[in-house]
Amino acid sequence: MSWQDKLREVEPYVAGEQPKIVNMIKLNTNENPYGPSPKIKEVLTSLDIDRLRLYPNSDAVDLRKELANYYGLEEEQVFLGNGSDEVLALIFLTFFNGKEPILFPDITYSFYPVYCELYQMAYKLVKLDRDFKINLNDFMQPNSGIIFPNPNAPTGLLVDLDFIETILKNNPDSIVVIDEAYIDFGGTSCVSLIDKYDNLVVTQTYSKSRSLAGIRLGIALGSKEAIRHLYDVKNSFNSYPVDYVAQQICLASILDDQDTKAKCAKVIKTREMTKTRLKELGFIVPDSYANFVFVKHPDVEGQELFTALRQVGIIVRHWNTKRIDQYLRISIGTDEEMERMINFLEEYLNK
Ligand SMILES: *Cc1c(COP(=O)(O)O)cnc(C)c1O
Repeated sequence: MSWQDKLREVEPYVAGEQPKIVNMIKLNTNENPYGPSPKIKEVLTSLDIDRLRLYPNSDAVDLRKELANYYGLEEEQVFLGNGSDEVLALIFLTFFNGKEPILFPDITYSFYPVYCELYQMAYKLVKLDRDFKINLNDFMQPNSGIIFPNPNAPTGLLVDLDFIETILKNNPDSIVVIDEAYIDFGGTSCVSLIDKYDNLVVTQTYSKSRSLAGIRLGIALGSKEAIRHLYDVKNSFNSYPVDYVAQQICLASILDDQDTKAKCAKVIKTREMTKTRLKELGFIVPDSYANFVFVKHPDVEGQELFTALRQVGIIVRHWNTKRIDQYLRISIGTDEEMERMINFLEEYLNK
C-alpha cells in the first residue's frame, strides 16, 4: 500500500479571498470596517518582550476571569481558542460522537460539513424553507448534536430565545451549539440560558464585532461540565492555542466594551441604510441581523453581479451552490464604501 492509500483525504473549507488589489472595497469576509479599541495600542507599546521567552498561561486565566465577569458566568464556564473556527473544530471532536447524525441547516456556515468530513462523522442537513427560515420540527429527530449560527450565516436571519429554548428542551441528550459569531450586531445572546440547560454551548468570536480577525480569538461558553470536557480535548491537542500577545490584546478589548458597542451601532445603521437602498434597486433582501446582507436581484444572475463588482474592485462573496447561487453576501463596510457599491449597482442595473 502506498502512502496515498493511508491518507485522510479531505476537501477543505475555502475562506473568502484576501486579494491584493489597490483601492479595493473589501466586502467579502465580514471583517469590521473600523479598527479595534485604541487601548490596544497602549498594550502593544508597553508589552514586555522578555515575557515572550515563556510559554503563555495555557488557560489564559486573566482573560478568562475578565470574560467570565463580562458574561456573568464562572471562570470554569469559559473556554478560549485560536479563533472560533478552532473552538468549533474542538467542539465537534468533543461532543458529536454518537451514532445518530449531527443536524445543521442546509444553508449555513460551510465549515460545519468540513469538520464532519474531517472527523468522518455522519450529518444530516435540515432544509430551510423558501424564506430561509428554520423549521423547528426538523430539530426534533434523533441526533448526536445540533449546531447553527444565530444569526444564521450567510442569510443573516435571527431566531429568538424561545426558539432556541424549545430545541434545548427537546434534545436534552445532545449538545446544542449556537454559533453567535454575529450576535453583537442586533441579536439577543442565548448565554442567559446556559445556567438552565447543561446541553447548551455558545460560541462567539473576536474577529467581527471586536475588529480583531488578525489575532484569532474565539470562545465557548457552557456548563462547567461541558467546558471541562472541551478543555480535556484541547489539552490533548495543543495546550497553548492562545498566545501571550493575543491574550493581552483581548483583555484590553473586553475592558473597552464601549468602543465595541459604538462601532457595532455604526455598522447596524449602515446595514439598515444598505437594506433600504438595495430594496429600492429591486433586490430581494432577507432581514439580516448580522454585519452583512444576503441579496439577489430578480433580473441579473448572481455570478454576473459578482464579476461586475469585482471588475471595479468591489469584492463580495458568491457561492456556486444550489439554492444560493443567485445570491451575493455583502459585508457591511463604511457608509462611504456602501455608497460607492450601491452607486455602481444602480448604474449597472440601469444599463
Ligand atoms: C466568521 C465565523 C466564524 C469564525 O470566526 P473566527 O473566530 O474568525 O475563526 C465562525 N462561525 C461563523 C458563522 C462565522 O461567520
